[in-house]
Amino acid sequence: MKLNYEVKNGWEVARNNNNLENIFEYSKEYMNFLDNGKTERQCVKEIVAMAKQEGFISLEEAMLNNSIKPNQKIYAVNKVKGVALFVIGKKDIEEGMKIVGGHIDSPRLDLKANPLYEDTNLGMLKTHYYGGIKKYQWVTIPLAMHGVVALEDGSRVEISIGDEEGDPVFCITDLLPHLSADQNAKKMNEGIAGEDLNVLVGNIPDKNQESDKVKYTILKLLNEKYNMIEEDFLSAEIEIVPAGKSRDLGIDRSMILSYGHDDKVCSFAGVKAIFDIEKPEYTACVLCVDKEEVGSDGNTGMKSKFFENVVAELINLQGNYVELKLKRAFANSRVLSADVTAGYDPNFASVYEKNNSCIIGNGVALMKYTGSRGKSGSSDANSEFVAEMRQMFNREKIAWQTAELGKVDQGGGGTIAYILANYGAEVIDCGVGVLSMHAPHEVVSKVDIYEMYRAYKAFMQ
Ligand code: MN
Ligand code: MN
Repeated sequence: MKLNYEVKNGWEVARNNNNLENIFEYSKEYMNFLDNGKTERQCVKEIVAMAKQEGFISLEEAMLNNSIKPNQKIYAVNKVKGVALFVIGKKDIEEGMKIVGGHIDSPRLDLKANPLYEDTNLGMLKTHYYGGIKKYQWVTIPLAMHGVVALEDGSRVEISIGDEEGDPVFCITDLLPHLSADQNAKKMNEGIAGEDLNVLVGNIPDKNQESDKVKYTILKLLNEKYNMIEEDFLSAEIEIVPAGKSRDLGIDRSMILSYGHDDKVCSFAGVKAIFDIEKPEYTACVLCVDKEEVGSDGNTGMKSKFFENVVAELINLQGNYVELKLKRAFANSRVLSADVTAGYDPNFASVYEKNNSCIIGNGVALMKYTGSRGKSGSSDANSEFVAEMRQMFNREKIAWQTAELGKVDQGGGGTIAYILANYGAEVIDCGVGVLSMHAPHEVVSKVDIYEMYRAYKAFMQ
């Protein structure tokens, strides 16, 4: 009998399981997903296209058929910014679901409603940052622009500049060191202010205009390409994100450097995992929601009634709907709140407590609780549920570890875990460690993301 607890190295576990090739294959697919899904809307498109190929039908289609049966695969889209995938179980939904819930929004810069102006021959766009960013990280890097413009006539134009071969990019300027005496003396979080995050977009004056000539050139080009006028910015959602593709990181290509791992990495793992689920006992569900980075509020965030409404529709398709069945469905559910955590970073060792940190390369991480200070705002998983997960991961020979977000009183954070826990479901945070989380380019280890996918699959099956 082994008395001491020891975390296994994920790569060694993977080697023993003969999974090394699978890890690199999976990573390629994930990187492709990242490159095509810079925004939540693009992610939804990607996920729905993949789901259709796997035989999923829309909730609307299922409602037309007026029934669902075990092993039926269904997707439901929430305003093009969120999506839920289901594989219907043998048991009725009221007996509970196995849910993997992640988010597909990532920190970024959103264009303001009235963004375009010019100053000293430079065309600029005003932004308002979204989510928790360190502003100084967003200057001088190549940026791309993705989003939608809803025109007054009701049509919708998709904008994408900066990520296609040959596209121009954008950037936010920083001050030269020669003139940075004042800036250098500031605190790090004041060096670049929110209102300094203005994106550089043009320099050529229009020949027929009296004033705002550079601005006019930009408007003319936007009008030619997207048929939009300046007022259309008011009804647009345009996101400024790092330009370029995800990259292999390391001489051994063991990691991935990319924008948006948080939390496309867990959402993708959930989506891939549910594609492998066949004839589950309990209905399997993967949720990819929006607005986690800003508190999960609004009609596309986890706190919205979307998910509840969809489950109500499914219960209705299984027979007749009564509210009690819906309540039972949630209270009987088991949930992996699929989100990333802080990977232990030896460059910043002082903020971590090594024995309880997520170590990059040691596999998927279970986080019993999150929160700040005295666990404020945390959803603390019940030990009985943690034991269930332990048993399952060990049985399936999954590389896993436990994690806590940094030292006590160093900071903290939360996920969507508490929202479903409030319904009475058993919920635990389960995801991978990320280095440089919320930076324009974040780091994950390929073995961790693969073990996460295996963990989600074992859970839902
Ligand atoms: Mn997250
Ligand atoms: Mn985050």
